[in-house]
Amino acid sequence: MIELNMENPLLKIQTEKESNAKSYPRHFPFVIKKAKGMMVTDTEDKIFYDCLSGAGTLALGHNHDVVVKAIEDVLKQQIPLHTLDLATPLKIEFMQEIFSILPEALRDTTKIQFCGPTGADGVEAAIKLVKNATKGKSILAFQGSYHGSTQATMSMSGNLSKKQHLQSLLPDVHFLPFPYEYRCPFGVGEGKTAQISAQYIENVLDDCESGIASPCGMIVETVQGEGGSIPADIEWLKEIRRMTAERGIPLIIDEVQTGIGRTGEMFSFEHAGIIPDVIISSKAIGGSLPMSVVIYKEELDQWNPGAHIGTFRGNQLGMATGLATLRYIKENQVMDNVKARSEQFFAGLNTLQEKYEEIGDVRGRGLMIGVEVVHPQGNKDRLGHYPPCGKLAATIQERCFKNGLIIEVGGRHSAVMRFLPPLTITEQETAEVLSIFEKSVMESISML
Ligand code: PMP
Repeated sequence: MIELNMENPLLKIQTEKESNAKSYPRHFPFVIKKAKGMMVTDTEDKIFYDCLSGAGTLALGHNHDVVVKAIEDVLKQQIPLHTLDLATPLKIEFMQEIFSILPEALRDTTKIQFCGPTGADGVEAAIKLVKNATKGKSILAFQGSYHGSTQATMSMSGNLSKKQHLQSLLPDVHFLPFPYEYRCPFGVGEGKTAQISAQYIENVLDDCESGIASPCGMIVETVQGEGGSIPADIEWLKEIRRMTAERGIPLIIDEVQTGIGRTGEMFSFEHAGIIPDVIISSKAIGGSLPMSVVIYKEELDQWNPGAHIGTFRGNQLGMATGLATLRYIKENQVMDNVKARSEQFFAGLNTLQEKYEEIGDVRGRGLMIGVEVVHPQGNKDRLGHYPPCGKLAATIQERCFKNGLIIEVGGRHSAVMRFLPPLTITEQETAEVLSIFEKSVMESISML
């Protein structure tokens, strides 16, 4: 655990007065003064590269010029800042822009629900939507998934430590094995994990003794984010789309972290060429400000007026910044940059993996990249992989922070270093991030 700098009076107040549930300040004990692009400056004028990007929210980095201008324009035009779900020209323009970034097959056949502006509220709405439409009750979710921190979304998320003190979460959630190749849940690996997982799931869907009655939907991340940047195999995604479609089970893709260009396509399901029934989008779609929407096929629109309400569904500033961000991504070929920088990251990290036994796996999609840190003195598992090493990951995170790089850890045992840079990261910045990362890995290994 990083030592807190108690000489900083502002940090002292935070440490003493903010809830024990606070989270990020435990890893990044600084006070942020200002930020631009991917650079963050603290109150002691130390500068950091930010590879956390507000947990994947800041598609264009901090305070991008188009985002700042969008906010200024709203204020100058006296657009009301709060409108519940009433119409404004800005809201309609934003809606149209969202429809325009959908694959053609969805563009004219979908509806949109504006949610309370968190990813978790979007997930809650999506589940209500499919429950209403199908009259089903069981939810199919995946081991290792993360869908939020409300009690219903936690019910659908894999992480057990956060649930252990909460009784009576949402019942009827059933967890299926995700195709996590490196730690194959079937102990097989070797390119077979996805195929076995798909077969297993199809069997569950048809088994009259599966124990799962009337599913209302299947919710999946195409790249498990908090779960450790684990990309689902593309063929597997096609398979789960096929089998859910054949059985009339709505497929809900949680694009909260993967959406809006993060993986190199506007929506991550596009890599598989599939069409989901429901898409949940938050984080980047608000262009730095709170925003959450559910986009769904219109035949599912069977819920009653007011079925999913919430006061803060009309965040006009978020609509303006979201609109500006979506346009900027489209008009400036930002996804080409995502692909190029992704290759650069993978090339650099794969070289590190060859050099250091402690780097067990390098994986991800686009600019959602994970490095699983392992313990070379531990016993290998049946796939020949060393055990995850959360302690080393924590040390690397600490060294990175000291060396000027903000990077999150995630995954099982918190052993995965998670790179979530802005989509606009430059070649030079990527090289700097990789260099700080390698330095920090070397320092951490020597400290073990
Ligand atoms: N779904 C996914 C895939 C996420 O990554 C997150 C947040 N990390 C959420 C849902 C929840 O979003 P929020 O924290 O805004 O509620």
